[in-house]
Amino acid sequence: MKLHEYQSKQIFSRYGIPIPKGRVAATASEARQIADELGGRVVVKSQVLVGGRGKAGGIKVAKNSIEAEQLATQILAMDIKGLPVRKVLIDEAAAIDQEIYLGITNDRAAKKPVMIASASGGVDIEEVAATTPEKIIREHIDPLLGLRDYQSRDIAAFIDLPRDYWRDFGRIARGLWEAYTSSDATLAEINPLVITKDKRLLALDGKMVIDDNALFRHPDLAEMRDSDEEARSETEARKYGLSFIKLDGNIGCMVNGAGLAMTSMDVIKLFGGEPANFLDIGGGAGADKVAAAMRIILADPNVKAVLYNIFGGITRCDEVARGILAAMEEVKPQVPMVVRLVGTNAEEGRALLADANMITAETLADAAQKAVAAAQSSAGKGA
Ligand code: GDP
Ligand code: MN
Repeated sequence: MKLHEYQSKQIFSRYGIPIPKGRVAATASEARQIADELGGRVVVKSQVLVGGRGKAGGIKVAKNSIEAEQLATQILAMDIKGLPVRKVLIDEAAAIDQEIYLGITNDRAAKKPVMIASASGGVDIEEVAATTPEKIIREHIDPLLGLRDYQSRDIAAFIDLPRDYWRDFGRIARGLWEAYTSSDATLAEINPLVITKDKRLLALDGKMVIDDNALFRHPDLAEMRDSDEEARSETEARKYGLSFIKLDGNIGCMVNGAGLAMTSMDVIKLFGGEPANFLDIGGGAGADKVAAAMRIILADPNVKAVLYNIFGGITRCDEVARGILAAMEEVKPQVPMVVRLVGTNAEEGRALLADANMITAETLADAAQKAVAAAQSSAGKGA
């Protein structure tokens, strides 16, 4: 789960990282009021869950509160990379001398978190990483020992930070590590961490990604989720406990079990098709869960055919069939559907679906080929 800039910075601040004074506004007049409270010179920052807001025109400095109101009006009307801006953060503007990059993420290959830093932070950090990777330092952190002081000193030296700032930098690096590890984050990033003209270190931007699988032990963080910002299908899937990931193809897939779901996607690809999603309904799914899964799949206009691949173990094929029938009543699918049911109560399931006008298949290869053919012909019809 991604957190907004303002949420990430609030967390950083709890761990002793200095952030600018500021507040979030949902309207331009609120923005003006906050700017007044902050003394007029502010930065108006779109709060959307994508990077590169600065380059997209979603970050603007205002000289006074009237200008802040105008900029907020503009920015609140924007779409950034397809996401509508619903909130702006109004922060006291900083006078910047230097922009540093400082972040922590998981290095899966090293099986350890890694702190990453560069003296050339700011909006072009991707460019720095691509063209001059030698300007970036990576310091692996032993998860049991945590970030050691010598490591933050190594980083400070590498980025040529003047000595006067080392103490504060050490505190910020440690604070970032603590924010990262105690939130079960997979990313905690400050870009830019600036040296201000009045010689302070200040986190101007913040970004955190929290491991979804750890949210159960962070109810306070889980509450920060901004459902407005996610795809509706993902919110819906979470509500029913379905593992769902939208993809770009045109064959919707409903499968029980993550391994079987991946196999089904592989076999679809083997026969020249492209899956529209990954969807695992899990073990023992009842009819209502199956119906929810079907609604989610069919809500995607790219879907030209659906493949049901159900291996009945704990999951009963007749329950799945009932879910499919219930959802068909509701959503009236216009695309061909291929179904393969094997295992527990498969015969009962097939009997239930006999009149449902579905294409049946015996093996996965057979099912995948039929789904690929069905998607091609229904795409051809412009369905
Ligand atoms: P991002 O583009 O989504 O990463 O948004 P940032 O919050 O990092 O802002 C982008 C850039 O805007 C920063 O790298 C700064 O150069 C600039 N910026 C952000 N806040 C301020 C500020 O308070 N004062 C000034 N002068 N520039 C700022
Ligand atoms: Mn940034």
